[in-house]
Amino acid sequence: TRGVEHLKEKLISQAQEVSRLRSELGGTDLEKHRDLLMVENERLRQEMRRCEAELQELRAKPAAPCTGCEHSQESTQLRDRLSQLQLEVAENKGLLSELNLEVQQKTDRLAEVELRLKDCLAEKAQEEERLSRRLRDSHETIASLRAQSPPIKYVIKTVEVESSKTKQALSESQARNQHLQEQVAMQRQVLKEMEQQLQSSHQLTAQLRAQIAMYESELERAHGQMLEEMQSLEEDKNRAIEEAFARAQVEMKAVHENLAGVRTNLLTLQPALRTLTNDYNGLKRQVRGFPLLLQEALKSVKAEIGQAIEEVNSNNQELLRKYRRELQLRKKCHNELVRLKGNIRVIARVRPVTKEDGEGPEATNAVTFDPDDDSIIHLLHKGKPVSFELDKVFSSQASQQDVFQEVQALITSCIDGFNVCIFAYGQTGAGKTYTMEGTPENPGINQRALRLLFSEVQEKASDWEYTITVSAAEIYNEALRDLLGQEPQEKLEIRLCPDGSGQLYVPGLTEFQVQSVEDINKVFEFGHTNRTTEFTNLNEHSSRSHALLIVTVRGVDCSTGLRTTGKLNLVDLAGSERVGKSGAEGSRLREAQHINKSLSALGDVIAALRSRQGHVPFRNSKLTYLLQDSLSGDSKTLMVVQVSPVEKNTSETLYSLKFAERVRSVELGPGSRRTELGSWSSQEHLEWESACQTPQPSARAHSAPGSGTTSRPGSIRRKLQPSA
Ligand code: ADP
Ligand code: MG
Repeated sequence: TRGVEHLKEKLISQAQEVSRLRSELGGTDLEKHRDLLMVENERLRQEMRRCEAELQELRAKPAAPCTGCEHSQESTQLRDRLSQLQLEVAENKGLLSELNLEVQQKTDRLAEVELRLKDCLAEKAQEEERLSRRLRDSHETIASLRAQSPPIKYVIKTVEVESSKTKQALSESQARNQHLQEQVAMQRQVLKEMEQQLQSSHQLTAQLRAQIAMYESELERAHGQMLEEMQSLEEDKNRAIEEAFARAQVEMKAVHENLAGVRTNLLTLQPALRTLTNDYNGLKRQVRGFPLLLQEALKSVKAEIGQAIEEVNSNNQELLRKYRRELQLRKKCHNELVRLKGNIRVIARVRPVTKEDGEGPEATNAVTFDPDDDSIIHLLHKGKPVSFELDKVFSSQASQQDVFQEVQALITSCIDGFNVCIFAYGQTGAGKTYTMEGTPENPGINQRALRLLFSEVQEKASDWEYTITVSAAEIYNEALRDLLGQEPQEKLEIRLCPDGSGQLYVPGLTEFQVQSVEDINKVFEFGHTNRTTEFTNLNEHSSRSHALLIVTVRGVDCSTGLRTTGKLNLVDLAGSERVGKSGAEGSRLREAQHINKSLSALGDVIAALRSRQGHVPFRNSKLTYLLQDSLSGDSKTLMVVQVSPVEKNTSETLYSLKFAERVRSVELGPGSRRTELGSWSSQEHLEWESACQTPQPSARAHSAPGSGTTSRPGSIRRKLQPSA
């Protein structure tokens, strides 16, 4: 029984061992491992595919033309990608080696398991043999036991016989035997099963081995494939690298070429740069020195300018000095000329015979001229020819312009600051007004003089500033009236300037500033209107009054500030016809007396001036008093003696010419002046008529100029003999 027990135990342990082996070799573990490998394989494949796709992508990527840094960028990108791929490959390799290791491990384990299985099988076989030997032993024992059965029966019988106790033990033994037998049968069955199981296990092992081999081959293949892939990848990578390298080289070459070009450029530019730098430095130096230079230049220029200004100034001063000297000289020359020519000139103008002269013997022409000498006039007075020599004689053919030509120089001297007087003297109707005023179509001296003044002043406008003013006045019965004033009837007084200059002025005398011919016309018109409204018989009135047009020319030299004032007095005198004491009464006589007085005074003043007497009786009449400034000093006087040519006026003509000649031929020599010149009293003037009517005055008149001209220095005038 102990042996059975032992067997039993052995069997149990065997069964346990078998089950352990079974679990160890269990299909589930291997299957799991296989699945794991398959999954791993699948993953590797996917990885490979991904790699391929990437490679494809890389290949498909068009090689962009290399342009500068873009290529290098791409190259670096490629390199990055490559290194990434290499990394991945390395990773894959690691994974593969890991897998390989795992496979190796598994294979090792499998081998170990196989070894153990072998061991187990061997042990099992041993055990089986031992068990079978035991079984055989047991059989033999059983057989031997059977062979010994009668004794047993006997024994039993004996036992039965002998004791019931033994009988029970026997039955127990028998039962136990039965049980053991059952157990053995069961054990046999179990063994059988186990054998079967072992068989199947063997089969499974074979199967697994085949599978492992398959897996291994597959793994090998996969490995090969992977190696191939890796190879191709490596090749691709190398190719890509080479390509990139080649491209980079090409680029590099281009860059190098560029660089070489740039270098050569740089080399050529360097000298230019050097010269530029030099230039720049030079310029910089110049610029730095420029302000100094400029300052110096400015200083020198300033000095030069200053010098030039000084020079100009001194030049100007010199010029001014010269100019003043010239002016002085001119004035001196003029004075000399005037002295030589006589500052008082007398001309005669004969008016033509007019309708008003009537017809018959009274209206016949009694005046003739010398064709060779324009200063001679012949008069046939009561059948006797009388000749006079004056400064100039204008025949009846002489135009207004001709006459003006003669006085023009006088008028322009006004601009230079000289005072001028032009008198028209003569009997009423002899043409005084015609000569002075003229007609609107043919204006006389007045208007022409103003026109001339305007044009002359305009010519000198660049250096001088002139103002021309006009006053108009008349003297009637020794009363002075303003013809341009608002109240022409008002009598004006002549006063001495309060400044102590000794100059005279007329307070309240209107002065009009004129700038154009239109202004003059307006002034004349205004004067006329005043005169017309005041007197009913203008013709008569005008013949008994002196009409004065006073033109003042004031100038300022713009450069020197020099001031000049010239006065031009144009006087239309009252008629010079003498009125006999017996033929005149009342107002007419008074008028005649006033006229005679003033004309005598004029004669006296002129005579006194020409003979340079110490005393000039200006105050003897309003006219001379008013004209005092314009008659004395450097002033010039022109007397136009108007002559009627007709027979009936010869007496007055003779008288006028005598007056003219007397005025003109006043001796200038300092020794003789007083003796030769007597004073012309108004009484004398009045009473002249009777004297003139005799032939003696004619001779006297003749003798006077004769003695005058001979004693006058520089005179070249012919001594004329009466033609008769
Ligand atoms: P007065 O003023 O001396 O009294 P006017 O000047 O009035 O004399 O002259 C008298 C007349 O003679 C006027 O009709 C005038 O036109 C005319 N007359 C004077 N002189 C000339 C002349 N030179 N040519 C033409 N007519 C003249
Ligand atoms: Mg008149």
